Amino acid sequence: MWLQQVVLRGVQVAGRRGVCSTVSNGKLPLHFNYINGERVSPLNPDPNQVMKVLEPATGELLIELQASGPDEVNRAVQCAKEAYSEWSQLTGLQRARIMQRAAQIIKDRQEEFAYWETRDTGKPIYEARMDIWTAIDAIEYFSGLAPSIAGQHVPLANGSFAYTKREPLGVCAGIGAWNYPIQMAGWKSAPALACGNTFVFKPSQFTPITAVMLGEVYTEAGLPHGCYNVVQGAGDTGTLLCEHPDIAKVSFTGSVPTGSKVMAAAAGGIKTVTLELGGKSPLIVFADANLDNAVGGAMLGNFLSQGEVCSNATRVFVENSVMDQFLQRLVERTGRMKIGDPMDDDTRVGAMIHQDQADKVMTYLDGAKKEGAVVACGGELVTPDDPRLKGSYISPCVLTNCHDDMTVVQEEVFGPVVSILGFDTEEEVIQRANNTEYGLAGGVFTNDLTRAHRVIAQMQAGTCYINNFNIIDVAVPFGGFKKSGLGRENGLVTLEYYTQVKTVYVEMGDVDAPF
Ligand code: NAD
Repeated sequence: MWLQQVVLRGVQVAGRRGVCSTVSNGKLPLHFNYINGERVSPLNPDPNQVMKVLEPATGELLIELQASGPDEVNRAVQCAKEAYSEWSQLTGLQRARIMQRAAQIIKDRQEEFAYWETRDTGKPIYEARMDIWTAIDAIEYFSGLAPSIAGQHVPLANGSFAYTKREPLGVCAGIGAWNYPIQMAGWKSAPALACGNTFVFKPSQFTPITAVMLGEVYTEAGLPHGCYNVVQGAGDTGTLLCEHPDIAKVSFTGSVPTGSKVMAAAAGGIKTVTLELGGKSPLIVFADANLDNAVGGAMLGNFLSQGEVCSNATRVFVENSVMDQFLQRLVERTGRMKIGDPMDDDTRVGAMIHQDQADKVMTYLDGAKKEGAVVACGGELVTPDDPRLKGSYISPCVLTNCHDDMTVVQEEVFGPVVSILGFDTEEEVIQRANNTEYGLAGGVFTNDLTRAHRVIAQMQAGTCYINNFNIIDVAVPFGGFKKSGLGRENGLVTLEYYTQVKTVYVEMGDVDAPF
């Protein structure tokens, strides 16, 4: 049914990949900001600030948008500020009920969300469906925590006491990357709203759609107007949000260089930031590991979403004594991954987000070959049979004969490319695994329990895995060490990043002043 007719609030899409006149007429920028509970026409539209969003799978125009300038950002922040006085005064339970209704609406519309997420990102629809659930999970999880957000009671001398309160921060901004659009909108808005903040989100300029759909869902669920807003735009719009005096906090997901700019922009207003940045994560496979599981872990750690995943284990260290078996199984399973139309249920490799990203990946591969790496499989531009699929498709690539100082081993490629590196000793591999400025994730495959914990204890990474990789659960904090970020998303700890502590001293006796 969803293939025939998908409705995005008045936007009808005829057929499987039909282009709707309301979404994309090729001329007018779509009114695709979501402010004060509705989609709005941009203030001061500027033809020089029109962004063309191409569908990754086909390379065709998907939507045209107006990038938001200062007036538009001001309008969104002002609405969020006004909504804050009402939303922050509700009890946690009242907020939770609204959020739980929102989660239910997304469940009811999950195929529609997955459809648009796939059209927006080019990722296989089976993955998009999982991504929708990660947003649902976040909304349900943080709504469940909302009624329990509380402070401490601290007894003091002579019956006096102090208490602390966890108060919301105010208007929080979220800025997202293009690889997990609905997940980022959910992971950032859910804790912000649960804690009593209001929220303005800027999705990536490449993936603008599902964040607006989420806004419509929140409104339908009863969220007061202005609590959740979306402003479309690129870096300039992001900067406006970071520098806005009425934004109390910025939660950013993206690259290290942009994260550094976000932090600098937020510093002017002494704002807190959460930064979820890039990575070059290691996965260590010891000879005693279950090799089929290790191969599965390495594939999960590299080939979801065309390899465009921040936490990917792009450096897989394999103990030399099992290298041949490991490689043979990895290459065999990688070669079976179906590449093609992301709308097909059995597709496992969809389209790269855009041509530039594909070019970047191919340039890394060329460089790797020049530096001596050997392609064990993949690494080629693929042309799908369907002539409409004119996007960029790259076959998942396994590189061997790698060494630590190759560019492809050191830098974040953000594509379906894994470098396989041999090692002989535990001590050596830990040192090499940590030899990076990133620290997002890390993993180990071994059946030796004590070694697993010993290795993980020395791993300089925020999110670690023993005998698996790239699994996530909303109850578990996610985030990076070193240049991979600051703060965490998910888990109880996230409440600390969306609240501030107020301390209240209460005197039960007389004031003992020495004056
Ligand atoms: P990017 O840094 O280019 O852009 C991210 C977002 O920042 C976009 O919305 C962009 O418009 C905005 N932006 C750009 N310049 C800005 C500025 N000066 N001020 C404020 N906002 C600005 O990243 P990308 O290419 O969209 O995403 C890929 C990167 O994101 C990779 O490095 C990847 O590792 C990282 N990432 C990290 C996580 C994580 O959770 N750690 C998750 C996904 C992606």
